[in-house]
Amino acid sequence: MTFQGSGPLDTSTVSSGGLGGGGGLGGGGLGGGRIALGGGAGLIITLIALFLGLNPGSLLGSTGSGYAPTGDTTNDAISQHIQSCTIEKANTDDICRIVGTVDSVNRVWSQILPGYTKPRTKIFSGSVNTGCGPASSGMGPFYCPADQTAYFDPSFFETLKRMGGSDGPLAQMYVVAHEYGHHVENLTGVLQKGNRMGNNGSVRIELQADCFAGVWASHADKGPDAMLAPVSKDQIASVIQTAKAIGDDTIQGSRSNPEGWTHGSAQQRARWFMIGYESGDPRRCDTFATNDL
Ligand SMILES: [Zn+2]
Repeated sequence: MTFQGSGPLDTSTVSSGGLGGGGGLGGGGLGGGRIALGGGAGLIITLIALFLGLNPGSLLGSTGSGYAPTGDTTNDAISQHIQSCTIEKANTDDICRIVGTVDSVNRVWSQILPGYTKPRTKIFSGSVNTGCGPASSGMGPFYCPADQTAYFDPSFFETLKRMGGSDGPLAQMYVVAHEYGHHVENLTGVLQKGNRMGNNGSVRIELQADCFAGVWASHADKGPDAMLAPVSKDQIASVIQTAKAIGDDTIQGSRSNPEGWTHGSAQQRARWFMIGYESGDPRRCDTFATNDL
């Protein structure tokens, strides 16, 4: 069990996504995920995926084509599911776990970051149109800065397990908190700064998001209105297992070249999560201030 207490969850920022109304993906996919920010002096912002840089098709495995049309029926079902979520259900099903984590992460950042504003969250199945262009489940969870929205297909949690990640609840919640870390980076301007630095900036962006996920976990079980029951060592171990499973060197294998990394090594991802978790202090997450990642 991760959530404690009972009762309703704040679902006001969470909705279903998907292609709905017949919008076609065309030939877009990952390459279409780039948009220019208006007035931004030519600045290019891409959506930030949990492991962008990997061939998106290769993650789909046997689960499907990734571009299966998602009709209104699916969207309606997801939407009703979201509205039915309670704290109790956040302990038992994946969609409600996402909704509950969103609630908890928003509470924590509202308390520790002056000026924090909530992003939106969309839960979809298969493929989705975003402010950063069309995207598919194969990319894994991602954040789009242009529409300040985090996107999750719950089927990703099965993929994560196949990749060697944990299917423990806190490990899944880490994924949500990581994407919200990118939202914090968007608010602070770090995302824009990092995007101008190529792969080196990308790694620093990703490791900071891991650190911010650790900061969230550090705060989420503390205080009189804590949403989480005390986080256990085993739960933290499940997060570390997952962070390592999505390290660039783990995914790329023995031929992995650090210059091609976009998200950081297994060791780096685990390390920065723990820096955030052990300090609870977002100022300790300045991955741009060190050459020792
Ligand atoms: Zn990320």
